[in-house]
Amino acid sequence: MSFIPYGKQQIDQQDIDAVVQTLTSDFLTQGPQIPAFEQRIAQLCQAKHACAFSSATAALHLACLALGVGKGDFVWTSPVTFVASANVALYCQADIDFVDINRETGLMCPVKLAEKLEQAAKRNRLPKVLIVVHLAGQSCEMAKIHALCQPYDIKIIEDASHAIGAKYQGQPVGNCRFSDIAVFSFHPVKIMTTAEGGVATTQNPQLADKMALLRSHGITRDESLFTEPSHGPWYYQQIDLGFNYRMTDLQAALGISQSDKLNGFVEKRNELANRYDQKFANFPLQPLKQLKDNWSSYHLYVILTDEAQLPRKQLFEHLRSNNIGVNLHYIPVHLQPYYQQLGFKFGDFPQAEAYYKSAITLPLFPQLNDQQQDFVINCIQDLL
Ligand SMILES: *Cc1c(COP(=O)(O)O)cnc(C)c1O
Repeated sequence: MSFIPYGKQQIDQQDIDAVVQTLTSDFLTQGPQIPAFEQRIAQLCQAKHACAFSSATAALHLACLALGVGKGDFVWTSPVTFVASANVALYCQADIDFVDINRETGLMCPVKLAEKLEQAAKRNRLPKVLIVVHLAGQSCEMAKIHALCQPYDIKIIEDASHAIGAKYQGQPVGNCRFSDIAVFSFHPVKIMTTAEGGVATTQNPQLADKMALLRSHGITRDESLFTEPSHGPWYYQQIDLGFNYRMTDLQAALGISQSDKLNGFVEKRNELANRYDQKFANFPLQPLKQLKDNWSSYHLYVILTDEAQLPRKQLFEHLRSNNIGVNLHYIPVHLQPYYQQLGFKFGDFPQAEAYYKSAITLPLFPQLNDQQQDFVINCIQDLL
C-alpha cells in the first residue's frame, strides 16, 4: 500500500482552469476574484461580510486588532489547538491564557470557562477576547459560551479553521450568531483550499472595514476617511498601521472553484467518518464525541485510545511503519517551550494533557477509498 496521508487536498480540472484563467487575466492580485470569493463565502456562511487574507493566522491577528486587543489585555483560547490561535494574542502584545477542554470532544469546556470567568472577575483579570476553536470541524457549544461571555462584554472570535461547511443548530458556522468574527483556513490539509489563505466573516460592518484596512497597510482611498482634502486623483492616506495580509486573485479564483465542491467534500468526509465509527464500535478506542445540534465538517478524524489495551505511542509507530501518515492534533500549546517560558507548566490544563496522551489523527480526506480505509482499520486490528 502506498503512503496514505492524514489529509490531502482535492484539485480537479475546474480548479486548474480557474487558476489558469486568472493567471492570464489583467489582475494577479487586487482584482475581481477577491470580492467574488468574499461574496461567495459570506453567502455560504450567511454572514453579511467576508474578508479574505493571506492566511487564517493573518485573519486571526487582524480580528484581534479590530476588536481592540492590545497591551494589558487578556485573550483566552483552548490549549488544544494549532499554536496560531494563541500566538495572535501575543502579536498584539496581549497576555494569553487558556481554558481547559472537555476530553471527550476536545472542545473548550463551558463549565471550566464559567469557573475561570468567575475567578477572573474577582481579580479584575477578565479577557477582552475569547478565541474558541472548532476542533476537527465540530462547533464548540456556542450558545452556552456566548451566554457566559455576554454579561462581561467579552468579544468572541471563532477559530473555525477546521470548520468551513459545518453547521451548529442547523445554521452554518461562520454566521457569527454567537460571536463577533469567525475565521476559516484554506491551507491544503483543510476542508477546501486556496493553497495558503484565510477568510474572516462578521455581521458587523465596522469590524469588516477595520480588517480590510489593516490587511493592506492601513491605507485608504475612501475620501470620507481622509484627515485633509485630497491632493488629487493619485491621493491615498495611511490612517493606521497595517500589514500586507492580502490574498491573491489566483488564490481567490481557486477558492471560488473549490467552494463549488464544498458540500460534496463535507458529505464525503462525514460518510468516511461514519464508516470508521462503525468499524471501531468494538475497539478499545473512542472517536471524538459528537454533540447534538452539530454537523461536523470532519477536517480531522481523531481517536482517543485506551492506554491499557492500545498504547498510543505503540499504535502511532505501528501505523507509521505501515506507511500510514497518522498525526497528532495537537500538542497542547501551553506545553510548547515558548509558552513554558511565559510561565505555563505541565499540570495547568489536565484535560488537555490527558487528551494529548491518547489522541491520534487517522487519515481522512474525500479521495480516501474503502480499500485504504480498511487497510488503516486492519492495521489497528493487527495490534490488538
Ligand atoms: C490551520 C490552522 C490555523 C492557521 O491557518 P493558516 O491558514 O495556516 O494560517 C489556525 N488555527 C487552527 C486551529 C488551524 O488548524
